[in-house]
Amino acid sequence: MTATSNAAAAFGVDLLPCDITPYKAGNTGVDYMTIFDSGVAGPHLMINALTHGNEVCGAHALRFLFEKDVRPTRGKLTLSFANIDAYESFNADYPYASRYVDEDFNRIWNEATLDGPRESRELTRGRAMRPVVDTVDHMLDIHSVELPQPAMLLAGSQAKGRTLSAAIGAPRHVVIDAGHAAGKRIRDYAQFDDPSRDSAACLVECGYHFYKEAADIAVETSLRFLRHHDAIDPTFLAEHLGETNDEEQLFIEVSGPVTVETDNFVFDRVFEGFEIVPDEGTLIGTDDGRKVRTPYANCVMIMPAREPVKGKTAVRLGRLV
Ligand SMILES: [Zn+2]
Repeated sequence: MTATSNAAAAFGVDLLPCDITPYKAGNTGVDYMTIFDSGVAGPHLMINALTHGNEVCGAHALRFLFEKDVRPTRGKLTLSFANIDAYESFNADYPYASRYVDEDFNRIWNEATLDGPRESRELTRGRAMRPVVDTVDHMLDIHSVELPQPAMLLAGSQAKGRTLSAAIGAPRHVVIDAGHAAGKRIRDYAQFDDPSRDSAACLVECGYHFYKEAADIAVETSLRFLRHHDAIDPTFLAEHLGETNDEEQLFIEVSGPVTVETDNFVFDRVFEGFEIVPDEGTLIGTDDGRKVRTPYANCVMIMPAREPVKGKTAVRLGRLV
């Protein structure tokens, strides 16, 4: 049994996939992509769900927007369900298994990879979605995480991603990170990561995959995204989002991961995520005798693993900015 299947057993699977087949046909010529055009000048916004097939909260959020007939009041709005093959493979007995089918959809968004000869079901889907994504000005990409952790925004490495995160206003924690060496995320694709262009993207992690609360956070973040772009009916917004009285956000720049080197890594205490360790040199864990200490003061613990696995990341460390 893997760490993640233990986690599913421990935390339960309360939020399950919902029926999204009514949204298959769409109107773009690409399955599961629908563009609503207000006919009024304004940005092309996109809310994307199911970049990872088992991160079902985004599907619930888009279903909410469809069922409530949410339409952009200016510009265009694309609602998109990404990794359908993975979503359709969901099995509640193995809830982590449907993250992807052939490869991680969120590592293929290098232009050279999309243009290249390699084949996978995720690449086929990414290539089908790409002509629409190419026309998007601003994107919200909805995700969740494999363990109960506070929700967070991932702003990417450009200043415009931080600006968008601040404008969305919640969740409170905003992580500034450059993505993955293994391949680009859709939030870092082309225009979104080009500092010379205004297009911005934000990724929201809505907490644990299978808590009902994740769907609520996904809906709320979607409404905030539309509010920021002044693209949603204020009456609907008042009814479904209401007054927001946000705590000041914390922006945290990832400095690097702590990688587990042995089978005997133990944390010095239980970390839930986003603890700030005040002193440089504080012991946070032991890796078969090797002491792991904070490399600087006010070190933030980002996405700590509950069960550290050799070769994987135990925790990412970050600085408040
Ligand atoms: Zn994800």
